[in-house]
Amino acid sequence: MRSCEVLIVGGGPAGAAAAWRLRRAGVDVLILDRENFPRLKLCAGWITPEVVRELEMDVREYPHRWLTYPRLRMHFGRVQVPVPCVQHSIRRFEFDAWMLERSGAPVEVHNVRRIVADAQGYVIDGAYRARYLIGAGGTRCPVYRELFRELNPRASELQLVTLEHELEYDWREQDCHLWFFANGLPGYSWYVPKERGWLNVGVGGIAQRMKGGGHDIRGHWNHLTRMLHAGFAPGARFEPTGYSYFLRGNVKVVRRDNAFITGDAAGLATPDLGEGIGPAIRSGLRAAQAITAGSDFRLDDVTGKSLTSILRSMFDRPARAGALAGRRGHASA
Ligand SMILES: Cc1cc2nc3c(=O)[nH]c(=O)nc-3n(C[C@H](O)[C@H](O)[C@H](O)COP(=O)(O)OP(=O)(O)OC[C@H]3O[C@@H](n4cnc5c(N)ncnc54)[C@H](O)[C@@H]3O)c2cc1C
Repeated sequence: MRSCEVLIVGGGPAGAAAAWRLRRAGVDVLILDRENFPRLKLCAGWITPEVVRELEMDVREYPHRWLTYPRLRMHFGRVQVPVPCVQHSIRRFEFDAWMLERSGAPVEVHNVRRIVADAQGYVIDGAYRARYLIGAGGTRCPVYRELFRELNPRASELQLVTLEHELEYDWREQDCHLWFFANGLPGYSWYVPKERGWLNVGVGGIAQRMKGGGHDIRGHWNHLTRMLHAGFAPGARFEPTGYSYFLRGNVKVVRRDNAFITGDAAGLATPDLGEGIGPAIRSGLRAAQAITAGSDFRLDDVTGKSLTSILRSMFDRPARAGALAGRRGHASA
């Protein structure tokens, strides 16, 4: 049986952030992920200045696609509001593999199914043993399912359903656009260009409200793509894929003995825009901190409101100047 001090289930942003912090403290860590990286992760790939700070990133050194938006364009019906701010886009395919590699932790491809707790810690599928366990396996995380689900049931009214597609496309419109409540969608749709000819578009809404209101996510997707074909993305061939995850609710139990849950496994995405990368990273770092420093593991404040963070970045002049000057290939101000 393979033994380690800390076993992390899932190598996405939550798991890779935890591993990075633990490895820096010299802890013996192993990550198990059912997929081989780089792997596809459905996500618009919009990240905030907080993420850059928390990962101590030097964006000039980041080796993959990176676009900084000097503004977001928010649409409410026929009204368009340009919001000057600093936000970034990456491709998850690249970003997650980069984070994982930077963590320096060993990674094995393994689909975790069964977790047994005993006096020494945790046994995973009869093949791995660890003193500490971090659940970072996203919405369907087996650590959540086996150890936390009964204590922390997910609220169906917080379930978000999405359709999206990321494709190679020679876009001309370089700003990020968000359309809120178009055609009664209880959520928003997005157009997120990536550096060097990639584009992510999608729609997301609260599943229960869509069902109650007789909405069909496909109908909203068709509405978005008709609009894009007539405007920013003529001739684009869209083939969407669906995914579902949970917005932040009242997450009560995040630690049980030496087992922790983080990121989407705990349901931490922001309640207004469903932004989950930042909360996943923050919670992974906190789990690592709890293990190395023996501190409390609290996630009360890892999820704020995305709109507050966007507004804050409007007034963060040094961040704006630095981000816009920091790297070639960004969108111009
Ligand atoms: C369409 C869409 C658009 C989004 N857009 C944004 C955005 O623009 N910005 C933003 O901040 N957030 C966005 N989000 C949310 C964001 O993607 C997630 O909140 C974030 O990925 C959570 O990170 P995580 O590390 O918790 O989980 P994940 O990124 O899901 O990583 C979990 C990992 O666990 C692995 N795993 C799962 N089960 C097992 C198992 N049984 N055994 C081993 N490994 C396993 C998976 O393979 C995966 O690699 C979006 C989500 C969707 C669906």
